[in-house]
Amino acid sequence: MKFYSTNNKDLRVSFKEAVFNSLPADKGLYMPENIPALDPSFIRNIEQYSLQEIGFTVAQALIGDAIPATALKAIVEDAINFEAPVKLLDAGTGVLELFHGPSYAFKDFGARFMSRVMGYFSEEGDALLDVLVATSGDTGGAVALGFLGVEGTRVTILYPKGKVSSIQEEQLTTNGQNIRALEIDGTFDDCQALVKRAFNDAELKSELRLTSANSINIARLIPQTFYYFWAYAQLKAQGTKEVVFSVPSGNFGNIGAGLLAYKLGLPVKHFVAGTNVNDTVPRFMETGNYQAKPSVQTLANAMDVGDPSNWVRIQELFNQDLDALRTLIATYSYTDEETVKGMQELYDKYKYVACPHTAIAYLAARQFQKDQPGEYASVFLSTAHPCKFPDAIAPEIFKEVVLPSAEKDRVGKEKQATPLAVEYDAFKAYLLKNK
Ligand SMILES: *Cc1c(COP(=O)(O)O)cnc(C)c1O
Repeated sequence: MKFYSTNNKDLRVSFKEAVFNSLPADKGLYMPENIPALDPSFIRNIEQYSLQEIGFTVAQALIGDAIPATALKAIVEDAINFEAPVKLLDAGTGVLELFHGPSYAFKDFGARFMSRVMGYFSEEGDALLDVLVATSGDTGGAVALGFLGVEGTRVTILYPKGKVSSIQEEQLTTNGQNIRALEIDGTFDDCQALVKRAFNDAELKSELRLTSANSINIARLIPQTFYYFWAYAQLKAQGTKEVVFSVPSGNFGNIGAGLLAYKLGLPVKHFVAGTNVNDTVPRFMETGNYQAKPSVQTLANAMDVGDPSNWVRIQELFNQDLDALRTLIATYSYTDEETVKGMQELYDKYKYVACPHTAIAYLAARQFQKDQPGEYASVFLSTAHPCKFPDAIAPEIFKEVVLPSAEKDRVGKEKQATPLAVEYDAFKAYLLKNK
């Protein structure tokens, strides 16, 4: 399988190149040159397979022989070594929990798979692969824990001082080994600007083998398709015929993966995208006019994106056909006040404690049920464990949060982070001095 740039169909690269480049030079996004339909008998019998078996089959369809079967199987099994259960809240509503990986967020799927693919493609004698990543909280933890101990790689995480939650900070700063954290005295945008500038710095690029782990890497998208199939398998085993997925969306990678699964042949009745007030996509769906805007800070801060980078991929999947998108995808946006009410309702009705992102998916699923009622199962995706967002959840609900057992192991580990001002020269000097 080759991958093309959404800006130039004639530019085709191997999977390996697409993974290490992350972005084509023309600033498009990589897409598989064709999306094969999976064998219908695989879908018909899907409840017989495990999450890992499903992952292997889907990954193989998408990357072809870029990685031989035995190696790909090992990568999937090692990367996806945690559960993704659908929990039923009532007869017609389920929550797909994607937070049982090491960083307690769905980004573990992408980061763990990508790190192992990069490890696989790294050859003896290759220079150390330097992964630079800026984070507002969730991405950094997934990337740090995803790459921890992966040979031939080193991760440098830039995070905004005082702007991540304590569990997020622990996940970034207590790892040691091949992971190092830079505590930047600025905002997430400052961190991102520093990283972007490093990638355009010829001197740095000649001294270091730099790569990016951001969400537009095709190797992060592919493993996110797995859990849509797996959720469908779990529901099908219980006799469910039709499924609607509601996805809390920021950069639109997660729902993009769901739509890719659909194109591979997964039967999905409808998709629902819930956003916070960063509603560029809902406005586009309404008006047909794509207008990015500066991001606004919200309680669901992992979705504070004003110009969702994966939207281009979704339009590409549907050949820029707005009507086709409108037929399959419903979009809704919510204020912080509504999000708080959503968390409260989940708790009052089901004793379910959800993070604000998850609550938005719940609200959107409910709204869709009202707008288009039917006999389908409505599944909303829970993208993070609530323990990561103590300040966004009402105290009387937050006190019911049960910490994941792995969290106990981290308690008491020393924070290791290098403080830096928002100064490109200082950042560059750090990278060169600590090669
Ligand atoms: C990253 C993130 C999202 C948004 O996912 P996209 O793929 O960017 O749409 C939603 N919820 C949580 C908890 C996240 O970390």
